[in-house]
Amino acid sequence: MYEINICHMYPDLLNIYGDRGNVITLARRCQWRGIRANIHSVTLGDSFSCENYDIIFLGGGQDYEQEIIQHDLLKNKGTEIKNAIQNNKVVLTICGGYQLLGKYYKTWDGKEIEFLGALDLWTIGGEKRMIGNIVFECEFLKSELCSGQVVGFENHSGRTYLGREVKPLGTVIKGYGNNGEDSCEGAIYKNTFCSYSHGSLLPKNPALSDHLITIALKEKYKDFVSLQPLNDELETLAHNSMISVITG
Ligand code: GLN
Repeated sequence: MYEINICHMYPDLLNIYGDRGNVITLARRCQWRGIRANIHSVTLGDSFSCENYDIIFLGGGQDYEQEIIQHDLLKNKGTEIKNAIQNNKVVLTICGGYQLLGKYYKTWDGKEIEFLGALDLWTIGGEKRMIGNIVFECEFLKSELCSGQVVGFENHSGRTYLGREVKPLGTVIKGYGNNGEDSCEGAIYKNTFCSYSHGSLLPKNPALSDHLITIALKEKYKDFVSLQPLNDELETLAHNSMISVITG
């Protein structure tokens, strides 16, 4: 039996807009296929070793929560998170968790806060919040069965900019995305996937969920080929309805 260990980092602090739904979705879409899925929580002061996990998740949080965990993330867990990223573990981060993997966060009044520096990206705080539904297109999800379009909800004041070493997760069709300027949404580096989309993201986008699970299983089991399809009729109906309502 295949088994996936999912690490939910700072679930008590990076937990806004239902982001824990991403962890639940990953686990359920494994379990529905007979794949054992174990969810482990790691928070302030806990030890963390990336080799114990196949998927690592960081959700979103307001500036206040980001400041609370910043020291623990950088000083106690930073090296292991960087190892996870470099060793092709699947990492999914949303909004505040996404920003924290970058080089720094510059507040709108000019204060520069050092972040993990695990990814070639940075964030500049803005006065106007970017709030609303978002639809963006992921090239790697496009298939005969999937348009590649992803739907979510964003609420952030930070504007994130990508350096040369990372690629955008997708191209914005409706909404702001990383910064409301360059039509980029999120970031991809190796098997690390970042997005501003709350919602939460994965329950609304089954193809993305299965993409992450597939990568994690292929990294762990050399004999793994592909996931058994699930009956996603309801999920697909909801997904397509949300996209048509948002894009008009
Ligand atoms: N505090 C960050 C910002 O406002 C992230 C917010 C979030 O995670 N929704 O940009």
